[in-house]
Amino acid sequence: MKFVADGMLGSVARKLRLYGMDVVYAPDFEDARLLSGAISEGRILLTSDNDLHAQALRHGARSILLTEETDQDRLVSIFRSLGVKPSGIGPRSSRCTVCNGELVRASKLRIHEALPPSVSQRHSVFYKCTSCGKLFWEGSHWRRISLMSKYIRNKLSEENAERDLR
Ligand SMILES: [Zn+2]
Repeated sequence: MKFVADGMLGSVARKLRLYGMDVVYAPDFEDARLLSGAISEGRILLTSDNDLHAQALRHGARSILLTEETDQDRLVSIFRSLGVKPSGIGPRSSRCTVCNGELVRASKLRIHEALPPSVSQRHSVFYKCTSCGKLFWEGSHWRRISLMSKYIRNKLSEENAERDLR
């Protein structure tokens, strides 16, 4: 699934990339550029701007209007709109949060010089962005990310359970 996110949604774009979603985010894109990107590349527009959302729909693009307060709830809203059950999250299935590039396994031998010693001691599995070269590993921040992923999954399954009861 491919997306293009408006200038207000940089942190949503980065979080969606953690799920392996292909998200174009360029804060300097104007509305016309966002729209043409959505249409020509078949990307789903993510926006918190009512007018842009309406314009996208008029042009036949797919668009999701995000009005929630937090990123977690915005992600719930995206998965709900798509009818998609989010997969687990981890660097193995993630895209680069910085540039949207694809990640590949990186050999520790080749990269260990670029790593802080504490990281090198504690971790053995690394991934590298094929586009910007940034390195990823399952460090302590992944705990926060997996809590977010759990929140999203729980919220979606609660909603499904409620719907089944009706
Ligand atoms: Zn990158």
